Amino acid sequence: MSKINRKQILEILDGYDKEDITIATLGSHSSLHMFQGAKAEGFRTAVICEKGREVPYKRFGVADEFIMIDKYSDIVNDDLQQQLIDMNSIVFPHGSFVAYAGLDNIETIFNVPMFGNRDILRWEAERDLERKLMIKSGIRIPKKINDPADIDSTAMVKFPGARGGRGYFVANSTEEFDQKIDAMLKRKWIEEEDIKDAHIEEYVLGCNYCIHYFFSELKDEVELMGVDSRYESTIDGLVRVPAKDQLDIGADPSYVITGNHPVVMRESLLPQVFDIGDKITETAKGLIPPGFNGPFCMQTLVNDDLEVVVFEMSARSDGGTNTFMNGSQYSYLYFGEPLSMGRRMALEIKNGIKEDRLEEIIT
Ligand code: ADP
Repeated sequence: MSKINRKQILEILDGYDKEDITIATLGSHSSLHMFQGAKAEGFRTAVICEKGREVPYKRFGVADEFIMIDKYSDIVNDDLQQQLIDMNSIVFPHGSFVAYAGLDNIETIFNVPMFGNRDILRWEAERDLERKLMIKSGIRIPKKINDPADIDSTAMVKFPGARGGRGYFVANSTEEFDQKIDAMLKRKWIEEEDIKDAHIEEYVLGCNYCIHYFFSELKDEVELMGVDSRYESTIDGLVRVPAKDQLDIGADPSYVITGNHPVVMRESLLPQVFDIGDKITETAKGLIPPGFNGPFCMQTLVNDDLEVVVFEMSARSDGGTNTFMNGSQYSYLYFGEPLSMGRRMALEIKNGIKEDRLEEIIT
């Protein structure tokens, strides 16, 4: 199927009443502050909700319209798309939106104008593309180990599709790698033919910081909006077990995200933080125009050499933005008032309309 024609999206946008825009997204992930922020900037909001999941949006009073669907994947149905277009909707994508609508559908059949860059979403989903973008940007990422025979220090082994880090493991030697692979085969977590797909990289011993940036296409500048760290099961539960009992439990560490903590970084790390943001956005502009347009997140670990090492990215609003629904220490510095990521997104749309540059930030 062919890619969505940008001209078609711009024609739809051209037909919109710019005084009467609706900000719409799926009720999930990081939608609460998107709706709250959009309302605060004077937009109408519409939540697309699977039946039975509407409670938070009703109780927090953030949505003006409820569009109820039987299942999340209905989001790409023609009727629903037309309903959104009739409401002059601009969609704010987030992790669940991308997962449920489907990357292929967003690229080929979802015609509703979106804020962001629909082409960059694939660069987050495919490890090779993600690494290409990061390597070309010259940012510090975990060193790749091409052959299990070369494991001579602590390594992290990742299998594709191991969502939430289930099926990741740590190995300190080639022998340990082989033993753990055998155990995974026995448990039928992987098949023999999957072994070649194992991605092996340097294990970065450090603290987790997920850095939420906003790239303003209108200002041509990266802003640091907030930072969170992850609260993951079972790894964070395991560290609460006394060391002498940890082995007895026999639990496999996994990294299923259950929540996020707001956090600030040592101030002397901020030059690195801005450098990473500047480099990745500059490279993305050339590789996937218009590049990062709006929110994105660099998931990092900071080691004791004070290196900020990026192991993963989100090319749209990341769930950790929920830690600053009322603004973060950093977003406060720009605006002198609490500002969430959702409100920053709405502000960009508002400025785009004011400056008559909306078509530059819509894809
Ligand atoms: P997500 O589940 O958000 O996509 P990943 O699957 O990439 O994130 O990673 C899950 C967890 O594994 C991270 O939160 C981090 O704690 C850990 N991790 C990932 N890569 C490395 C690495 N190279 N070294 C140490 N820990 C890592």
